[in-house]
Amino acid sequence: MKIYAFDVRDDERQYFEQLKKEKGLDIQLRTDSLTMDTIPFLEENSAVTILGMEKYGEAEMKALAAKKIYYLSTRTIGYDHIDLEAAKKYGIHVANAAYGPESVADYTIMMILLCLRPYKQALWRMQVNDFSLGGLIGREIHDLTIGVIGTGRIGSTVIRELSGFGCKIIAYDKYPKEEVKKYAAYVDTLDELYKEADVITIHTVLNDSTYHMIDGNAIAKMKDGVVLVNCARGPLMDMSALIAGIESEKIGALGLDTVENEQSYVHQNRKTDIFSDRDIAYLKQFKNVIYTQHMAFYTEEAVRSMVEAGVLSLVDMNQGKETRLQLV
Ligand code: NAD
Repeated sequence: MKIYAFDVRDDERQYFEQLKKEKGLDIQLRTDSLTMDTIPFLEENSAVTILGMEKYGEAEMKALAAKKIYYLSTRTIGYDHIDLEAAKKYGIHVANAAYGPESVADYTIMMILLCLRPYKQALWRMQVNDFSLGGLIGREIHDLTIGVIGTGRIGSTVIRELSGFGCKIIAYDKYPKEEVKKYAAYVDTLDELYKEADVITIHTVLNDSTYHMIDGNAIAKMKDGVVLVNCARGPLMDMSALIAGIESEKIGALGLDTVENEQSYVHQNRKTDIFSDRDIAYLKQFKNVIYTQHMAFYTEEAVRSMVEAGVLSLVDMNQGKETRLQLV
């Protein structure tokens, strides 16, 4: 079976080459994306692995099935950009990737610390030899209550790592986990978490029940000066509510690794273009808003695992083998 690897980044190539050699696989590496324009040129009975965050819906699934391409993997953990119902309808099996939760968990801890110690302003000042301290006073994490929403692989790792700081940790998840209770106290409602937490970090998946979970109503219930961190998925937080919260100073600091509507520019160099996402262009200029380019996952360890998972799940699905990464 031929495998087309789309959206291949330079840092992934060595791992693809290794798999080709070690497993004798026929993998064509491509830097473009799987789209309605590229699908007609693929070989029949091949398989595809993608990395891009474009939407893959009914039309794409139908086009893949027309080429007898029944195996699709995304080299990401998140798969909210893939319409699994449409995939099922056209008999396409889909798998996502897996990598250790530490990459995103470590990054989340860094975001919390960068927000609590006004690092962005300190960095700005250093660049112009401004060595003053005014306005740079921070807060110590051990004195604070950290609220973690979503205690799956990443959320529970954040909690375990946070426990070393000696802070109070409260958590909310639809399905509380016994092992998390060692480090954190679950609250019964999100309202309780909003009321008590000085810092809130979100780690749920994105679906209909979590879309805009953090909206204007939720923010109104939080402490004044709350620190909000999102290293999960942009649409978990309503962008206009974040802007209002920063403008009114209800939100003390924001650490965002992902934002709503990032799909059209995420991981692209757009520095010479007219950048049209007004919301993020406006929001990222604030001294207390840290925005990074959806890079929490981006470690050597994670990239290797993403490539291996993306390729080997296609091979397993094609051989009818069980893979824990298969979604449909
Ligand atoms: P996971 O599936 O292990 O955990 C998700 C948790 O959310 C589960 O415990 C689930 O019970 C909980 N949940 C679902 N709906 C809920 C609701 N309505 N209320 C409360 N809890 C709810 O997922 P994970 O691997 O820990 O990933 C967490 C998030 O991080 C995902 O959104 C994923 O897309 C994102 N992510 C981001 C990056 C990045 O680079 N920024 C990288 C990987 C993953």
